[in-house]
Amino acid sequence: MFSESLDQAEAMTELIRVLQDSENIVVLTGAGMSTESGIPDFRSDSGLWQDDELMQAMSVNYLRYFPERFWPKFKHVFLRPEYLQAQPNAGHLALGLLEGMGKRIQIFTQNVDGLHGVAGNTQVFELHGNFGLARCPICHTPYALNHILSEEVPHCVWENQKGVVCGHVLDPDTVLFGQDVRHYGRAQLAIANADVMLVLGTSLTVDPVAELPHFAIEQCHTRLIIVNMESTYCDKWAHLVIRGKVGEVLSQAVARVSSARDFPQRYRA
Ligand SMILES: [Zn+2]
Repeated sequence: MFSESLDQAEAMTELIRVLQDSENIVVLTGAGMSTESGIPDFRSDSGLWQDDELMQAMSVNYLRYFPERFWPKFKHVFLRPEYLQAQPNAGHLALGLLEGMGKRIQIFTQNVDGLHGVAGNTQVFELHGNFGLARCPICHTPYALNHILSEEVPHCVWENQKGVVCGHVLDPDTVLFGQDVRHYGRAQLAIANADVMLVLGTSLTVDPVAELPHFAIEQCHTRLIIVNMESTYCDKWAHLVIRGKVGEVLSQAVARVSSARDFPQRYRA
């Protein structure tokens, strides 16, 4: 690992240099990206996932067999008012800023809160779906949050030409236990073509997403930069590992990328 010989200040300087030089950046984000926005790590030891019964209820089987019981539990876990009011933090905004500089930023996120899109990034691939969306499993009509919240168990209101309402209980867009992650092949393709892969706020413990940084190193020789509070199994292969809060680290780095790019322009003017 290149960064073993660097102190924190030198690691920041290297992060800035890599961001500066990279035009095609793939980003993988996890729960640590959103904790600074007040959204907890749903899978952490202290989280609701410690409740086995609740965890089993967040499965596609439970939804199919007990749709009326599923939705109140799903809302209890994911759709709390404080989560729905959460705003992008400095880390989300920094990634939005990087895209605003003209860099190609493709974000693959394990988070279901939609905050990368709110921060202005346009190429966001939600590997585990989005908690603010739902869809009818029968007629595939999509629904937004206001409809999901309008009744305890949201139903499809699509009406055919004869005036018959579909009426089926909706599926959340969020990927449930027993369902596959999305955009995995697209993530591999993006990684293969990227100048660098940033791994932000994820401890890389949930497969198959946790395999992606290893794929970057092993198959694509794409450089890896990891910013996370805890160690990950990929640290030993990474070009750079920075221990810290994603929002703090990334906003400081991107602010300096920004000013460095502006510098010659100011002198030209
Ligand atoms: Zn329907």
